[in-house]
Amino acid sequence: MKRDMQVIMKAPAKVNFTLEVLGRRPDGYHDIISVMQALELADDVKITLTGEGENSIEVFCDSPDVPDGPGNVAYRAARALLEEAGGSSRVSPAPTRGITIEITKRIPVAAGLGGGSSDAAAVLKGLNILLGGAVPEERLRETGAKIGADVPFFLSWPLALAEGIGERLKPLEPLGEMWLVLIKPAFGVSTAWVYSQLTLGLTNKSGDIKLSELGIFACGRAKSADAGQPARPADASAVASRLKNDLERVTVLRYSEIDVLKRRLTEAGALGALMSGSGPTVFGVFRTEAEAKRAAEGLKDTGCRLIVTRTIPSWPAPVL
Ligand code: ATP
Repeated sequence: MKRDMQVIMKAPAKVNFTLEVLGRRPDGYHDIISVMQALELADDVKITLTGEGENSIEVFCDSPDVPDGPGNVAYRAARALLEEAGGSSRVSPAPTRGITIEITKRIPVAAGLGGGSSDAAAVLKGLNILLGGAVPEERLRETGAKIGADVPFFLSWPLALAEGIGERLKPLEPLGEMWLVLIKPAFGVSTAWVYSQLTLGLTNKSGDIKLSELGIFACGRAKSADAGQPARPADASAVASRLKNDLERVTVLRYSEIDVLKRRLTEAGALGALMSGSGPTVFGVFRTEAEAKRAAEGLKDTGCRLIVTRTIPSWPAPVL
């Protein structure tokens, strides 16, 4: 009997520091421009490849809000990767194999933090490692885009500019480390619902992004006051001043609690606060861990789930 092979992937959450909706496309999707940042908060995705089973895929998740089996986006990712690997000339015809995926959920579900998309990306990356890199990186991203608009981000850079429906990505200069307090209200929000509520009145922009409009995100580094000094990475206050999310107004119309939570965060010392993605999670930006923890402590009375985390400059390494 062949030995099992295993890899444990960290699947990080994301926030959108900016999210602009440019308009609706004929296929029903929306064109966006978004600065996306990966976080230390992450699910664990354990992938085991056994020598037995005819390309059978099993998915288990410890969260009651997330389905096991074919309903899980990780299942679709594994199926898609097997199909890509099978069609690739870099591997011999697909051997019989069984795949078991076990997800330990830490990222709040249906929260605007990209949890499902990140799990899917972790499966694409991890399974591809176990299959000896059968699928080249650019094919991996194309495969990811078919699974979900946020998946390609998790296969790109931890700080990236996303365009198109989120599948066109450019790396951005790393920012200085910053701490975030995430507040997740008890309800979840469907991304499809939020986009369906967008009206042209709310999104009347068009055309390509001008890099100059990205401000600190385009150059990433603030010029030092002293000539000759190396530029320092843009910090939490610079980022806080650029926060912007077109979807926020839509979600706030239905859930006014979002505005209350933003205000509570700034009153608790956040340099800026914003809803992430389609929400409902709201995040506050802080310079230090101590400031973030103090704020989170003072927000316990909201009854919401509170998470203190930080931005990451590189993707966590797979554990084999
Ligand atoms: P995004 O920010 O990309 O829009 P989200 O954070 O709003 O994503 P998810 O947490 O990805 O939303 O979950 C959306 C839905 O997908 C939930 O209803 C959940 O049951 C389902 N789902 C399927 N597989 C997963 C998974 N592995 N992790 C999370 N949700 C999953």
